[in-house]
Amino acid sequence: MGDRRLLLETIGVLRRELKGFEPSCYSPADCTRLAEELARVEKACAAARLLAGARAVACDAHRKAGVADPAHWVARQAGTTRRQARDALATAASLEGCRATRDALLAGEVSILQAAEITKVVAELPGEEAALLEAAKAGDLTTLRDEARGRRLASIPVTALHRRQVASRRFRHWKDGLGMVCFDGALPPETGIPFVTRIEREAARLRRTAMQGGAAERFEAHAADALVLVSDGGSAAKGATDLVIVCDLFAWRRGHAHEGEPCHLVGGGPIPVELAKQLSKDAFLKVVLHDGVDIQKICHVGRKYTAELRTALELGPAPSFTGRACIDCGRSWNLQNDHDDPVAHTGPTSLSNVKPRCYDCHREKTVRDRKAGLLRAKGAARDPGRRAGAPAPANARGLPERRAGAPAPANAASHKEVGPGRGNGAPGKDPPTAAGP
Ligand SMILES: [Zn+2]
Repeated sequence: MGDRRLLLETIGVLRRELKGFEPSCYSPADCTRLAEELARVEKACAAARLLAGARAVACDAHRKAGVADPAHWVARQAGTTRRQARDALATAASLEGCRATRDALLAGEVSILQAAEITKVVAELPGEEAALLEAAKAGDLTTLRDEARGRRLASIPVTALHRRQVASRRFRHWKDGLGMVCFDGALPPETGIPFVTRIEREAARLRRTAMQGGAAERFEAHAADALVLVSDGGSAAKGATDLVIVCDLFAWRRGHAHEGEPCHLVGGGPIPVELAKQLSKDAFLKVVLHDGVDIQKICHVGRKYTAELRTALELGPAPSFTGRACIDCGRSWNLQNDHDDPVAHTGPTSLSNVKPRCYDCHREKTVRDRKAGLLRAKGAARDPGRRAGAPAPANARGLPERRAGAPAPANAASHKEVGPGRGNGAPGKDPPTAAGP
């Protein structure tokens, strides 16, 4: 039990101190500390404010203030919309069943949005609270949502999941204050993934062209142009790797997957084997069968990418094969292939050395490599002074030796094309790597 008077006094002191806050009066180190401490206090205050507000409206505080809707009263206190206030009150109510989350919230360890995500999942999947709370404390809201999505998807039988996804598709549009046409929508993964893959590929192409002409804009701006092209059926052609399915070979033959056998869309979660088979009739699909071949062995020296390596890179890390994300910041769009150990430093084009990095992280990494002297002309760095921890050079068979401590070879995944695919499914060009160091 806290001291009521002390809490109110402390809040008064804090408010007075913050009123004249001027960051330039503090050293950079102090500002770092302040940013960290205030983030915790802010989360704790928001939590206490919400719980106090929930108790106040439960005791009719809003009616005494002449407001009929409790959410309206809470929205006025917090300066939010009524919808946000309604969601917050629902979170406050559900926190009663999630005591550990409530404690973490009041300790400033998680935010209200993170707590809301946790309580939503726990309502469907009791028993997941501790794991989700750990994810929330360690990462941001995006990582928590990814974690929650993975757990939710794994818990719903795959045919029921697909039915729910199809039933949840939507599209709506409106105009904003600038007169822009805005929209939002949701597509089931089997139509949504190829759609966004085409937009991304077209946006990257438009951006490259714009950069050559010295007129590059934000990636989002080029992506908007790409969206128009794709929906017009213009120059943005369907590609061979718009949709990649990972399916266990035995599950494929049997017609349904057993526990532990993957059958999912890369970047989109599990699907029924039956749907995988239906989708594979499309000319632009590639089915990757999980048949126990060591995927790590795919390696080439130089910049050349084999079709196998491209597929392996699209699949993302084993054994989940859930698609690619920037290894530095976790972003899953505007990605490029980066040689961790640069080609100029004899780094091989192999699964262990080629990493997905977003445009920004790739640029920063190139600057670091240049500073470390790894981008000198070929031959200059070809000998003993290899960077500590860099992969060993390819051995006589052209295969990389695994680093000490590197993950064991993937249990999975060579791949075979199924259906009337387009050749080996390699994208026509090599856009991302061409820019790489
Ligand atoms: Zn990044």
